[in-house]
Amino acid sequence: MSEPTLYHNLIGGEWVRSTTGQTFESTNPADTREIVGRFQRSGADDIAAAVQAAAHAYEAWRLTPAPKRGEILFKAAELLRQRKEQYARDMTREMGKVIAEARGDVQEAIDMLYFIAGEGRRLYGQTTPSEMPNKFQMSVRVPLGVCGLITPWNFPMAIPSWKILPALILGNTVVIKPAEDAPLSTYNFVQCLLDAGLPPGVVNIVTGYGPEAGEPLVRHPDVKVVSFTGSTAVGHHLTKVAAETLKHVSLEMGGKNGIIVMDDADLDLVVEGVLWGAFGTTGQRCTASSRLIAHRAVATELGRKLAAKADGITIGNGLDERVSMGPSINADQYKIVCDYVEIGKQEGAVVVAGGERLTTEGYSHGYFHQPTIFGDVKPSMQIAQEEIFGPVTAIIPVDSLDEAISVANGVKYGLSSSIYTRDVNQAFRAMRDLDSGIVYVNAPTIGAEIHLPFGGTKATGNGHREGGVQALDVFSEWKSLYIDFNGQLQRAQIDNAE
Ligand code: NAD
Repeated sequence: MSEPTLYHNLIGGEWVRSTTGQTFESTNPADTREIVGRFQRSGADDIAAAVQAAAHAYEAWRLTPAPKRGEILFKAAELLRQRKEQYARDMTREMGKVIAEARGDVQEAIDMLYFIAGEGRRLYGQTTPSEMPNKFQMSVRVPLGVCGLITPWNFPMAIPSWKILPALILGNTVVIKPAEDAPLSTYNFVQCLLDAGLPPGVVNIVTGYGPEAGEPLVRHPDVKVVSFTGSTAVGHHLTKVAAETLKHVSLEMGGKNGIIVMDDADLDLVVEGVLWGAFGTTGQRCTASSRLIAHRAVATELGRKLAAKADGITIGNGLDERVSMGPSINADQYKIVCDYVEIGKQEGAVVVAGGERLTTEGYSHGYFHQPTIFGDVKPSMQIAQEEIFGPVTAIIPVDSLDEAISVANGVKYGLSSSIYTRDVNQAFRAMRDLDSGIVYVNAPTIGAEIHLPFGGTKATGNGHREGGVQALDVFSEWKSLYIDFNGQLQRAQIDNAE
């Protein structure tokens, strides 16, 4: 076998080795014998060098007209379109999602490039009349400086694009620490930006493990904002670390998303939606449909229909076009999935489908598990409360819409919810009362589009949103400008008082 490619950190436009002298391997979770690449195992000194390079590049980049910045993003979009298939295949190899979904992940980054490129000609502020005569006033967005970005492995190109692009269009520079399980897609994405003409130092990549490379980025005094997507436990910890230097922090974290199925729902449509929402990306989406809150009148039939279809899901290496579900990302995550399935059984939930890991011929070198559906689940059970991040979902029977909404809201997270009903009144009540950042009607809990705000309430987030123009708020501050052309002092609130 040929030596796997060795990837370097990108600092100030140079590809450099880590000062630690160490590397780590990224392996294919469908077949761990395949090493996808070797990456730098970086530490605080590498982060310091990257932040310094980003701070240096900031002085010219912030003064580059935003429409010109947008033109670079537009060119990068064209390049990424050309490279879509190759990068999608790299993504499937590095993190296991099936090839159709990997193409979707790259497409999301393409969409984001076009959307944010256009923002270069908007970045609107406000003008508003003064309470004084002969006085003009307006507000404008200003960049913050160096942004520290920390990303997870489950959307290894889309999520970096959600953070890098709004930061850049505003005139910021960035240091990104991608997830150790899937760094290659960040390299591929950034390569398009470099080939499109992005100046050196505007984007810097430092790879490594969270506590060793991620945390020094959050601690660094010259990093002005941290944008993190990952688990709630790590996000919570990083908030406290960032508080020491009064940084802005944007957090996108876990979910325990519920689909409500009312007794008037089109059950065949529900089944299609649930299989996609619960088992797409092997359930490793922050928005995965991990709870089905079903009206008791249809809960059993729904379980039966789901079981019949779940057994038909083809599991395997996602590069095979016939495969519809891939592996879990790594040994730790696989163990979590297997443990939760055992917990569900011990809690007294009924296994409606799946329930076993796959270790037979063809599966023995990867982290494969059957798509698993539990029935008769009580809202208080662990499998109904905790994020599993795997191909497991739980049917919770309820008797009314009020109870369904209360169960849906009865978890610590608040990312995405959905309701299947043909009754417009029930749909509007759910849209109003579900406590989550995203609500779908007659569709599962996954499927966000990049031009709407994305994020969640409660333990899912801290009030910020990615996607949409709202993403600009994370990477900018408002500056208010007052221009008095009266020629004489005017005192607000005093000279015009009654
Ligand atoms: P994770 O929290 O383990 O890791 C996320 C990133 O944080 C990685 O780059 C990791 O290296 C880094 N990290 C870990 N410890 C750190 C530390 N002490 N200091 C700094 N950085 C550190 O999460 P994961 O396993 O990669 O991703 C799965 C989680 O992400 C799930 O909980 C999922 O719901 C969540 N997620 C949320 C969203 C969202 O938008 N809400 C999207 C995708 C994933």
